[in-house]
Amino acid sequence: MSYPVYYPTPIKGETVFSWVARAHSYSGYPSFRNQSLKALQIKTELASTEFPSYIAKLAQSSCVDEQWIVQFMTGINYYRPFQTQAQYQQLQTDLLSGNTAYMHSRYGMVANRLLTEPVLKSCPACVTYDEAQHGFAYWHVIHQLAGVTCCPLHGLKLHSEKRIRSFAAQPETSEIVDASISEFNLSTCIAMTFIDEPIFYAKSDLVRVLKNRLLEMGMVTACGNTRKRLLVPLMIEELGKLSNCAHFKRLACGLRRGSYPANLFYQPHNQYHPLKYYFLIHCLFGSWERFKTAMEAQPAKEPKTPKEQVQSPSSLIDNSLIIKYLKDGGSMRKIAAQTGKSIAYIKKVAANNQIAVDKRPSKIFSVDERDIWRKLMVGIPTEVIAREHGISQGAVELILGKFSELVTLRKAIRLNKKRQQCRQEIDAFCQCHPQCRQKEVRANCGASYIWLYKHDKCWLEQHLPSPIPRALRYLGK
Ligand SMILES: [Zn+2]
Repeated sequence: MSYPVYYPTPIKGETVFSWVARAHSYSGYPSFRNQSLKALQIKTELASTEFPSYIAKLAQSSCVDEQWIVQFMTGINYYRPFQTQAQYQQLQTDLLSGNTAYMHSRYGMVANRLLTEPVLKSCPACVTYDEAQHGFAYWHVIHQLAGVTCCPLHGLKLHSEKRIRSFAAQPETSEIVDASISEFNLSTCIAMTFIDEPIFYAKSDLVRVLKNRLLEMGMVTACGNTRKRLLVPLMIEELGKLSNCAHFKRLACGLRRGSYPANLFYQPHNQYHPLKYYFLIHCLFGSWERFKTAMEAQPAKEPKTPKEQVQSPSSLIDNSLIIKYLKDGGSMRKIAAQTGKSIAYIKKVAANNQIAVDKRPSKIFSVDERDIWRKLMVGIPTEVIAREHGISQGAVELILGKFSELVTLRKAIRLNKKRQQCRQEIDAFCQCHPQCRQKEVRANCGASYIWLYKHDKCWLEQHLPSPIPRALRYLGK
């Protein structure tokens, strides 16, 4: 049995499902599933899908142009900016031929795990306006798009209700909740693609403009890679300002895993869900208009990369000096001290100039460690120990670092040794010159005299020749 259905005039921007649901309400049939949908030979589960397979049939029975239906009653333009013209035409052909079964996988929605949410969204202000204007409310295409959670016209949060397959749901008035600025901006950014004239962006141009914007924001490294550590927290923060919806959770997951947005730059020719682009554009440009201006302003040229630091003549001189010392066989520690550069820098210069450096083992076995510890204990210089064991001085210092008490002990040993040396020098001079004066001792053993004056004043005063009596001083004796 066939059921004739009367189709009301569709509204530009109304979803196909909304139109069919309205047709059902006018038909007077009790069952949406058994009569209205059967008249169109539509399977119930496909009635409210994002890509309806029954457009051609609908166009035929309603006498509405099928191209017009595809253009203004489906979300096809949502995908347009990030596809080639050929891909877009294929999408149109598929929609018209009803070949929509694999569309979700073909357009990256399955791989990106960003499937259409099983909800119908409506704006409370639009419902009131549409009821006043048309006498009924309808489902807007723009409101149903992935990532749109706010009405771009009224700035209100969209009300979501579960999509029931066998029910010809129509929007009803709901609570008015203001959306955040971020939410409004993202939703407007997405909605603008619908209002805009047809745009197709080549992936290479798109990546170049996005990268240039990242460069302006200081989020590109000297090698031209994106600075994930700066970009990802910025995007996560932006996500935090949006509603709690499955699509945003999916983006957050990609951000935390590190795959998004890096994959848009490093594998640009893969098929990604448009929301991934829209959200990145929203984070980087703030609005679709600003992004579009940037796209139009970019002539075909290579992406800018930060200028490499020009080596100053002084650094060249330094390097030539380092190379000379390295070729002379000087130790890296000494060269570092002579040139004021770090050992790591000297190692790099050696590697760049293919100069083989003597890399001593830096790993020490427990037997050696014990031996080294004993030598450190008695205050033998690390340099000497390193030479004796054929290891690097750094490795010896590593063992020293393990025993903090050794450091204090070695300091005391060094101080004691120095004191002995200075005392011996003064003593030896005084024995050789029994009649000498303090002035002569100071002139001949200056360093020891000063050191003892600073660290061992008592001993110095006791062992220096007695001062000239005050009364005789003026005679110059
Ligand atoms: Zn609205």
